[in-house]
Amino acid sequence: MNMLQQSRNQVLAQIHAACEQAQRDKNRVQLLAVSKTHPSDVLSEMYQTGQRAFGENYLQEALDKIEKLKDLQIEWHFIGHVQRNKTKHLAEKFSWVHGVDRLIIAERLSTQRDASQAPLNICLQVNIDEQDTKDGCQPAEVAELVAQISQLPNLKLRGLMVIPAPNNTEAFKDAKALFDAVKVQHKNPEDWDTLSMGMSGDMDAAIAAGSTMVRVGTALFGARDYSPK
Ligand SMILES: *Cc1c(COP(=O)(O)O)cnc(C)c1O
Repeated sequence: MNMLQQSRNQVLAQIHAACEQAQRDKNRVQLLAVSKTHPSDVLSEMYQTGQRAFGENYLQEALDKIEKLKDLQIEWHFIGHVQRNKTKHLAEKFSWVHGVDRLIIAERLSTQRDASQAPLNICLQVNIDEQDTKDGCQPAEVAELVAQISQLPNLKLRGLMVIPAPNNTEAFKDAKALFDAVKVQHKNPEDWDTLSMGMSGDMDAAIAAGSTMVRVGTALFGARDYSPK
């Protein structure tokens, strides 16, 4: 068995064990393979193990891989910071965008998504633990944003995405409470089914709190190398 198959099996086993521990259905937690910095042949190899959902953070890097791997049935997720002037490529090339945190971004994605494509799946990013960052809306803004964004055509507002500070287990519980509380604001509450939280180091705690999608890079692909090639 190759290394990627082995690491994926291990991560899936860890997800299943965390579900069992939390008495949750293991089919309710999806694995998103976070492949930033890894070349397309590595993604291709991971695809051979059965992985279909891949997450990328950097637009140009992602577009290159999407082009190279266009013959594979990959579900592409953008999990990086969304810049206002980059929404067109996201609307055209991705299935999911996790980092939406303002109405204007959602409006642009909605306008730029071709109506002939499946609706673009959206997660609203929330700064759940008051980190000193400009990414993510405030928890107090979420209800209003859900009400507004769920009205937009060509989008499917699926849920929330959070990136709490390391070891902040409480933040996962806060995210789950917020996720449950704002469902009623949604125009189509049955679309509201995704809580994107948990990474290599904290997926067990995230699953215990109610995550439905863990975004895992290092545990699948090994450490990332950011040095110029
Ligand atoms: C890089 C990244 C991940 C994956 O992190 P690992 O610790 O390597 O699993 C998950 N989510 C986001 C938003 C990321 O940028």
